[in-house]
Amino acid sequence: MDKSKIGKRFQGKVAIVTASTQGIGFAIAQRLGLEGASVVISSRKQKNVDEAAEKLRAQGIEVLALVCHVSNAEQRKNLIDKTVQKYGKIDTIVSNAATNPSVDSLLQTPESVLDKQWEVNVKASIVLLKDAVPYLSKGSSVVLISSIAGYNPPSALAMYGVTKTALFGLTKALAAEMAPNTRVNCVAPGFVPTHFASFLTNNEVMRNELEEKSMLKRLGTTEDMAAATAFLASDDASYITGETLVVAGGTPSRL
Ligand code: NAP
Repeated sequence: MDKSKIGKRFQGKVAIVTASTQGIGFAIAQRLGLEGASVVISSRKQKNVDEAAEKLRAQGIEVLALVCHVSNAEQRKNLIDKTVQKYGKIDTIVSNAATNPSVDSLLQTPESVLDKQWEVNVKASIVLLKDAVPYLSKGSSVVLISSIAGYNPPSALAMYGVTKTALFGLTKALAAEMAPNTRVNCVAPGFVPTHFASFLTNNEVMRNELEEKSMLKRLGTTEDMAAATAFLASDDASYITGETLVVAGGTPSRL
């Protein structure tokens, strides 16, 4: 990333990014931080939280770093409370956490796994926003991270895909409910080589296939996803709400 080209759209703003100690969430926190935001990062493991915070602080970014498993109510409340105690308000929330514990077909997936995917990938965003609403500033924004898998759930990722489809609907419903104070939008990434996607992108044959499927003949980068998220979260998108932005290099998704 050429840091000299980055603006300062988030000066004086406070941004919470969930699941942000590596991959797409980390890149989003980094981008918002480089653009001037105080960023609140979190994930399940203290060690990951500490290491990510150190990397961001080394770039001059103001960081509050907390442990928060998004399906743990106490940790979610702590995330909001500590943010408000330290910074007094919330301007942006990026809900990025997801889990994909199963490659079973839908009808073979154990009920406990269906529940877990629903809980982490969909419900956690709703309950986190419920806690955050009293502190969201006028003109604030929310970005949900979905996936192009939501448009056409692949058989090996069926329930995961279905939860990502649900986020498209959730974006519309929350945008209506949270207007006019808060805008709610969604980013649907294509394939990005992260730990989460490594079972696809570390396999050379598969990787080549995915690159070929995209019009731009490459996988996405975490910075591509961060740039799109920062746009939607910023005032540059102040008349955009309830929308999903596909960031997939032209990989087939929707019309
Ligand atoms: P990643 O690189 O594997 O990073 C996942 C991050 O989430 C880590 O910081 C992890 O830290 C944290 N995390 C995992 N479960 C969590 C939970 N229950 N609560 C809080 N934090 C949690 O993953 P990624 O590829 O960046 O994925 C991020 C988002 O992008 C997900 O919503 C995913 O569905 C979406 N996405 C990814 C791709 C892709 O190709 N990579 C494509 C489409 C959509 P800890 O282990 O410390 O918790």
